[in-house]
Amino acid sequence: MSEFDLINQFFKSNYLKRDDVLLGIGDDCAILSPPPGKSLAVSTDTLISGVHFPESTKAEDIGYKSLAVNLSDLAAMGADPAWVSLAISMPEVNTIWLNGFMQGFNELLDKYNLTLVGGDTTQGALSITINITGFVSFEKALKRSNANVGDAIFVTNTIGDASVGLDVALNKQLISALSDSDADYFIDCLNRPQPQVFAGQLLSRFSVAAIDVSDGLFADLSHICRVSNVGAHLLLEKIPLSNALSTYYKKKPDWQTIITAGDDYQLCFTCSQEQVDEMTQLMSEQNILVTCIGKIVDKVGVSCLLGSELLAITQPGYNHF
Ligand code: ADP
Ligand code: MG
Repeated sequence: MSEFDLINQFFKSNYLKRDDVLLGIGDDCAILSPPPGKSLAVSTDTLISGVHFPESTKAEDIGYKSLAVNLSDLAAMGADPAWVSLAISMPEVNTIWLNGFMQGFNELLDKYNLTLVGGDTTQGALSITINITGFVSFEKALKRSNANVGDAIFVTNTIGDASVGLDVALNKQLISALSDSDADYFIDCLNRPQPQVFAGQLLSRFSVAAIDVSDGLFADLSHICRVSNVGAHLLLEKIPLSNALSTYYKKKPDWQTIITAGDDYQLCFTCSQEQVDEMTQLMSEQNILVTCIGKIVDKVGVSCLLGSELLAITQPGYNHF
């Protein structure tokens, strides 16, 4: 199969065209028409086999996760997703694998009414780079620099599940120690993160700083603090855990792992005390679980508190270099 047949069959055939895509796949560039009055939020993420997902990961899950982690960046700005480009490098043309990959990828294209507008296809070690664009109003964007002393700190849903998912994926022995449904749940959290796009859009009604938790809650909250020039008290026992994770840790959660392992793709955000009631009410009306896990303080750094004790963080988060 030639490179061009491949593009036509797998990438072009699938694309649902939005009205704002004036020219899609097939020319030297895509031509896109942003809505008047909006700014563009643009982000790129690369996923490398064996680094960002275990080599044994199913093609469907790789396709899904590649797009999910990019959508998560738009979610963390409160943006409305629109266009995607896909640069893929793969060792060979394996049509079964490509069908699977595009099935996972298309699931999220459909869900968020995104159009794949272009990309690049090359031979090499399996690696996927996605560029995503969404619309946002600059004033309302959930910038990391928006945190203020006294703000409450929240997270969406639960934290720490993907870390066990990775252990299960890499160490099959662990599966026997878990119920089937819990093992599936953890693996799903690792492979099929749910980007918090809608939560991010709702949060843009408030003055919040937000980040998506990809490198671990501790590292990502530290990023908000650094750019906002503030610090944080993170109350470990307030961090929301799933039932499966609570069962897994049997009353003694490994907080160090929970806040440093990453791959959660939840939003961590701050909210002024004046807006907390209105924000939590809106979130509960929309069935989005948000939990207060601490407070922004003026002393720089993130202090992780277990009751009155300070937990020293030995492994601050994933770092590629
Ligand atoms: P060029 O050589 O001009 O960069 P290519 O031959 O790489 O063009 O690509 C031809 C067309 O197919 C372009 O419109 C490009 O955006 C699109 N394309 C290539 N690879 C992909 C892909 N993986 N996903 C989506 N579109 C792709
Ligand atoms: Mg090209």
